Amino acid sequence: MKILVPIKRVIDPYAKVKPLDDGTGLNLSGVKFEINPFDEIAVEEAVRQKEKNPEIQIIVVSIGGPESEEQLRKALAMGADEALHVETTDQLDPSIVAKELTAVVKEQNPTVILLGKQATDNDNNQTAQMLAAQLEWPQATFASKIEFNDGKANVTRETDTGEEVLAIPLPCVITTDLRLNEPRFIPLPGIIKARSKPLTKLERQTSDQPRVEVLSYTAPPTRSAGKKVATVDELIAELKSKGALA
Ligand code: AMP
Repeated sequence: MKILVPIKRVIDPYAKVKPLDDGTGLNLSGVKFEINPFDEIAVEEAVRQKEKNPEIQIIVVSIGGPESEEQLRKALAMGADEALHVETTDQLDPSIVAKELTAVVKEQNPTVILLGKQATDNDNNQTAQMLAAQLEWPQATFASKIEFNDGKANVTRETDTGEEVLAIPLPCVITTDLRLNEPRFIPLPGIIKARSKPLTKLERQTSDQPRVEVLSYTAPPTRSAGKKVATVDELIAELKSKGALA
C-alpha cells in the first residue's frame, strides 16, 4: 500500500504578516516558513499507519520553489520514505496543483492520497476535492480518525451534529482535520537520517496558468484599546454611548 502525501510550504501560521503598503502582496521579510499544519498532520497519520503496517510506503510531494525542499526534508525526518519535488516558481492555484498532483498520481499509483483539508496561507480548501474529481476517486474530507481494512478506508468525520463514520473503497482521497493526531517532535537522528532518503526533482507536467487573481491585500482594522469599568451601570452607560445598546 502506497500513501501519497502532498505538502505545501506555507508562512508560519504563528507569524504576524502584514500586507505591503500598496496592497499588492504580503511583506514576507524575516518570516519563517513551515509545512502547512494540516499536511504535517497528514504526514504524521501516514507514519502512524506505517507503524501499524510496515508494508506501507509513504511518498511526500510538494509543488513549489527550491525552498520547498526544506519542508520535504522535514517530512522525510518525520518518517516518510521518499520525497518528490515538482520544482517551479510559477504562480499556482488549487486547480493547477490538482492537475500537477494528478500527473504525479498517474506515475506513482498510490492507494491513498492524504492531503491537508486546507492550506493555512490561503484557506482555499479546494485542492483535494478537485484532485478527487479529476481522478474520479471517492473522497472523505475532514478526517478525525482513519482505519484501513478489507480494501476500504473507514473515515470518521466530526460534523455539527456528532461523528459520522464513512467507508470508502480504495484508491481514495482523504483530507485531514485538526483532531486527527498531534504531529511528533523530530529527534536529531531522524533529521540526520532524512538527509540520505531519496528526494527526486520533477518538472511541471502541465502549462496552465492561474485563473484566479488576487486583486489586493488589506490588513484588518486595528482594534482600539479596551477600557475597564467599575460597575455594571458604568458598563451599560458605556455600551449605550457607543451605540451597542439601545
Ligand atoms: P488548499 O486547497 O490550497 O487549501 O490546499 C489543500 C491541500 O492541498 C494542502 O493541505 C496540501 O495537502 C495540498 N496542496 C496545496 N498546495 C500544494 C502544493 N503547492 N504542493 C503540494 N501540495 C499542495
